Amino acid sequence: MSSTTEATLDERAAKLRDALGSRVILAGDPDYDVVRTPWNVAVDQRPFAVVTPESAEEVVAAVHAATAVGLRVAPQSTGHGAAALADTDLSDAVLVRLTRLRGVTVHPEAEAAIVLGGSHWNDVLAAAAPHGLTAPHGSAGDVSVAGYSLNGGVSFYSRAHGLAVNAVRSVQIVTADGALVRASAHQNADLFWAVRGGSGAFGIVVSLEIELLPYADVFAGMLLWDAEHTAAVSQAWAEWTASVPESVTSSLRVLHLPPLPELPPFLSGRSIVVIDGAVLESDARAEELLRPLRDLGPEVDTFARIPVAGLVHVHMDPPQPTPAATRHRVLDALPAEAVAAFVAASTDPGLFVAELRHVGGAIARPVPGGGAVSAFAGEYIVHGIAVVPVPEAAVPARGAVTAFVDAFEPWTGDALALTFLDGGVDREAGFGAALERLRALKEHWDPQDVFAAGNPVA
Ligand SMILES: Cc1cc2nc3c(=O)[nH]c(=O)nc-3n(C[C@H](O)[C@H](O)[C@H](O)COP(=O)(O)OP(=O)(O)OC[C@H]3O[C@@H](n4cnc5c(N)ncnc54)[C@H](O)[C@@H]3O)c2cc1C
Repeated sequence: MSSTTEATLDERAAKLRDALGSRVILAGDPDYDVVRTPWNVAVDQRPFAVVTPESAEEVVAAVHAATAVGLRVAPQSTGHGAAALADTDLSDAVLVRLTRLRGVTVHPEAEAAIVLGGSHWNDVLAAAAPHGLTAPHGSAGDVSVAGYSLNGGVSFYSRAHGLAVNAVRSVQIVTADGALVRASAHQNADLFWAVRGGSGAFGIVVSLEIELLPYADVFAGMLLWDAEHTAAVSQAWAEWTASVPESVTSSLRVLHLPPLPELPPFLSGRSIVVIDGAVLESDARAEELLRPLRDLGPEVDTFARIPVAGLVHVHMDPPQPTPAATRHRVLDALPAEAVAAFVAASTDPGLFVAELRHVGGAIARPVPGGGAVSAFAGEYIVHGIAVVPVPEAAVPARGAVTAFVDAFEPWTGDALALTFLDGGVDREAGFGAALERLRALKEHWDPQDVFAAGNPVA
């Protein structure tokens, strides 16, 4: 590196420090490695600096300070989606991590909540449950509301209630010029359209108002078999999903569990097949709907009426940061040949999880007044996850998940699920028909391309 460049770097660093004080953490600072590490710890992101604001004003200050010295800005909440952002060079970017900007206020009479930009779904569930309300959260409670919702958000409520993005009523967002603005159907309506799908490419959302769902409890759970039953269980699930109403959203996974002491002994080191999900029906109707699956004699059956907050535990997502590589495709159908492809491909020991999620229903119906992404076409998501325990495992892990989803080429449609996008793939395709308008609005709201997002808008 030339001395001129070093001087420039030092100068930028000094100006950031002047503007933001101890709120900015630079490479070499003691906390740099802690604050730059995302939930997906396989991603070794090394931004120019990291800022962890505690208020909207501090987010505004961070954007002003970064842009004043010609740096880009990358919003990140938890880093569950860090692998997508990793395709972007962050050496000239300030990573704005919203880990300290958490808090939820529920307005029960309006069945709505105001959620600060870095809040997790667990925060919302804890605040909403006492009012007999819940939210369109995904399978993991420690994913952020903003990152999940603004990229679509597929939940166990989604076949009945649609993508989570449609529950967003308004956002408070810091734009590329450092202004804090409100965007809703009535204010900055074009920005409101863009951020509902365009997410972090349009600014840093410091709070959002979301609609809640009127459920205090839900019929939900999981059924588990040894993986030797994968073929029979998968075929039965495929036929079952083709028949169930939109009140049922479920997934089927083959999991290759490592021999870990943290796992219950009966699961440690085993390969299993699991069906889980939610049935938004009365107990009697839910029992009736589940009968064909229960007739397959699962080893474990936890389906029952549970308090809504328990739904985040049903899918058994890892509770701690996990190094992973993933790939997905959205399938138009799951005929017997596709099930056979799943059964064969799911045996790859390089996979941690081979998953099918049942989508369609309200997920596939565009919503009037919706944003850039309000739905996606397709009936199933096929999703492969491989663990990346050491950096050298990244290439084989990506190879394993790519080979897994490639097995579904004949049934793959054009759509993508934005929340399931990982690095190394064409993510703009996920915007579908909205891409052109998103690009025009990016030019308007962020002409200098200040914001670096996991799913970028060029
Ligand atoms: C264990 C696990 C379970 C999951 N389960 C589901 C599921 O059930 N359904 C589903 O649809 N998805 C699921 N996902 C995917 C997840 O929803 C996406 O990765 C989502 O983008 C994560 O959001 P985040 O903010 O937590 O992650 P981050 O990596 O922090 O954010 C991802 C992107 O969102 C944007 N963003 C985040 N916060 C803000 C903000 N405040 N303002 C502006 N932009 C922001 C940025 O562009 C950022 O690059 C899961 C992922 C994991 C790892």
